[in-house]
Amino acid sequence: MSESEKFAGINRRGIMIVLSSPSGAGKTTLSKRLLAADDNISMSVSVTTRTPRPGEIDGKDYRFVSLAEFEALRDNDDLLEWAEVFGNFYGTPRGPVEAALSQGRDVLFDIDWQGTQALTEKMRGDLVRIFILPPSAKALEQRLKTRAQDPAEVVAARMEKASAEISHWAEYDYVLVNDELELCDRALASIVHAERLTRHRRIGLSAFVRDLQADL
Ligand code: 5GP
Repeated sequence: MSESEKFAGINRRGIMIVLSSPSGAGKTTLSKRLLAADDNISMSVSVTTRTPRPGEIDGKDYRFVSLAEFEALRDNDDLLEWAEVFGNFYGTPRGPVEAALSQGRDVLFDIDWQGTQALTEKMRGDLVRIFILPPSAKALEQRLKTRAQDPAEVVAARMEKASAEISHWAEYDYVLVNDELELCDRALASIVHAERLTRHRRIGLSAFVRDLQADL
């Protein structure tokens, strides 16, 4: 049980934590650290029509489905958002997210600005949208260069894509500059902690206050 969970023993609704950033800004590292540090948060598992890559586990990395299964999910409004990427379909299943939220468990999403906009249309009150920025263009380029031994033109293309992704920064509730990982990590944990305590999410509060007043 996490710290916010125990807080006064008051039930709350879970939060949907959305992390977006250009690739190379450290989002994957931050996601992993957040998941490892807080056992009340789980990663949303997307459905996809693409074939599994070696080592990928069905139900963990993705839920691998046929095109017909995907279309059925989409047409039944069982997906909170979906997209076609390089000829394959990807989507966020609604059921597991709704179940988690109603049980006070939090769900982490690693999605881009388009996915974030789609989630905003459907789940605004549950969302905590966080954008991660690199400290500088130079630092981003360095990270992209060291991460993969890609040719200069591939790195240049990624930098351009990063610029397009960054242009959506103002659509997020929080913007963190990932200069020092430790600090960014702590800022992220603080955001999660505070968002769990917002009044509208603490569904047990009115009963708590009623009982409190009855005893006054
Ligand atoms: P990959 O096939 O390499 O795992 O993912 C390809 C792309 O699909 C990535 O850009 C990834 O962010 C995106 N993607 C994965 N899952 C989802 C999802 O549930 N919704 C959306 N909109 N995009 C996704």
